[in-house]
Amino acid sequence: MRLKNVPGSKEYIAESKFVIHDETERKGKVREYFANDKPIQIEIGMGKGQFIYAMAQKYPEINFVGIEKYSSVLLRAIQKMEEEPLDNLIFIRMDAEEITDVFDNGEVDKIYLNFSDPWPKDRHAKRRLESRQFLERYKKILKDDGFIEFKTDNNDLFDFALEEVDAAGWKMIAFTRDLHADEKLNEGNIMTEYEAKFSAMGNPINKYIIQKP
Ligand code: SAM
Repeated sequence: MRLKNVPGSKEYIAESKFVIHDETERKGKVREYFANDKPIQIEIGMGKGQFIYAMAQKYPEINFVGIEKYSSVLLRAIQKMEEEPLDNLIFIRMDAEEITDVFDNGEVDKIYLNFSDPWPKDRHAKRRLESRQFLERYKKILKDDGFIEFKTDNNDLFDFALEEVDAAGWKMIAFTRDLHADEKLNEGNIMTEYEAKFSAMGNPINKYIIQKP
């Protein structure tokens, strides 16, 4: 996904009105930007933002925040917003490890994790966005009955994610090993860029929905 070295992407992002910029005090900035009290849903590792942009178009009654670590990828999402701006979508360039510095306790309604990087080496397990370490961070920023929805075609990552859900004591609401064949869970499904790519190759898509303990 990383589009290496897009020249000037950092500078371009620094100027963008569709990005919440780094400041000493980052908490409260998202609410301040939207200036309303609609629920907030976030996608962590949104890549070029195809999924979250489509979600924001479909659900104008919700505020969406797209989080992405790399400027070169985020740039593509910003360009789409410049073509057709949406007032319920904003982006943050950051590493998800800092998520509790940006959102207040209980500020977020739902978190989407789509086709997260697998970090296959055991010693990197805590970098996976579905690890117990990340679940602990998500627990802080999610409201009391908040949800996480996770999709991936990577079976090893999904197996790991299920173990982490158990270990961290989250409530499993639903899961499937073949989302596109699951009439109920697939209803209204919005495909991500990676989902379209991998399902076209014949890979089944795993999905879980979990609720904060
Ligand atoms: N969600 C998109 C999709 O399904 O098409 C993109 C998937 S891509 C494989 C994973 C994305 O997550 C990459 O753009 C990567 O830069 C981003 N990412 C990985 N770790 C991250 C982290 N710790 N914080 C923020 N973004 C991260």
